[in-house]
Amino acid sequence: MVKYTNRFETLAIHGGGTPDPTAGAVVNQTHPTDAYAQAGLDEDKEHRYSQTTNPARTALENRLALLDGAKFALTFSSGLAATDVLLRLASPGQHVLVGNNIYGSTYFLFEKILRRYEIEFSYVDMSNIASVEDALRFETCLVWLESPMNPLLKLVDISAISELAHEHGAQLVIDNTCATPYLQRPLDLGADFVLYSNTKYLAGHSDVIGGAIIIGSDDDYHALKFLQNAIGAVPGALDCWLILRGLKTLSVRMERHCYNARLIAITLQEHPAISTVYYPGLPSNPSYRLAKRQMSSYGGMIAFILKGGEKAARQVINNTRIFTLAEALGGTESLIDHPASMTHTSANDSVLAVNPGLVCLSVGIEHVEDLISDLKTALESITT
Ligand code: PLP
Repeated sequence: MVKYTNRFETLAIHGGGTPDPTAGAVVNQTHPTDAYAQAGLDEDKEHRYSQTTNPARTALENRLALLDGAKFALTFSSGLAATDVLLRLASPGQHVLVGNNIYGSTYFLFEKILRRYEIEFSYVDMSNIASVEDALRFETCLVWLESPMNPLLKLVDISAISELAHEHGAQLVIDNTCATPYLQRPLDLGADFVLYSNTKYLAGHSDVIGGAIIIGSDDDYHALKFLQNAIGAVPGALDCWLILRGLKTLSVRMERHCYNARLIAITLQEHPAISTVYYPGLPSNPSYRLAKRQMSSYGGMIAFILKGGEKAARQVINNTRIFTLAEALGGTESLIDHPASMTHTSANDSVLAVNPGLVCLSVGIEHVEDLISDLKTALESITT
């Protein structure tokens, strides 16, 4: 493990693992094996069975912990698997208070599956501190929020919510998937856990599924490590290796995502077919001042509402050539999404329902002028 720096860019490349000690390869190695040979029954071996630990996963977990300034990280087969394991810290009869703008499938997991185990969920606008205070109960064990929130990219004051949660004896989880540790470190702001879909910016190349929990305390780490092993929703060693590789370029990718997204948001804001642009880096955005304080830049996600509603949204989506229609985010390639019929279908008719005229962009790292002209051409295709 790198001991000579705290700098993100260096840790993202060298943190959490040394070059392969057997052949001296300069990148972390992975072993497509399910088990590691033991010399004898008494041998004290770090890796025995790959589901429990393996070198690529250990290196990935160490690196992720370093990037968030944490002591521990645990990785999972997906962001939702990580979410499911973290929620197993709640017991029947306990309550989880959730931000009312979260990823649709997280909502689905809470409402359709975990509710069956008598865990109660309620939803509140976390940007309104007074309503959070009102909604906290004696039984609340976890407060769960995304900041920025998918899909409207609203921010929540993490320090303020963490103080409130702790006063009420609850722990705070931040889903930091859209910000990444490069733009925001929730543990430094008082959170107890950080959740990631590694699938997104951390791996960054749209070629792997994974999740992680970053953990602040020893006790929580031991409880979650037990669950990780007992449940077994772990990533394969090859997937860990891909995520380790992706992390090396996280800082440069994020710089470009943020640069491109800001210029695109400014352009969209002036377009006559668009009624609202949601991007925390626009001075007109209600989260702008908080974003300046809480994040180091504004991220690569943009949402906007078309004046022509769902029909116009469909026309724009069908007419982009570089922005690809896909249910994902955080890769090098620019993607476009219609939350009402894609990521948020499971949340229609709920507190999380989204405007059918809403379009989301995951701005990639292509040349920004190509992206702007692609969007302008697609917007010209709108007919009344
Ligand atoms: N959290 C957020 C903010 C997401 O956008 C997603 C997926 O899109 C998840 C969690 C779930 O992650 P995964 O798809 O890796 O299960």
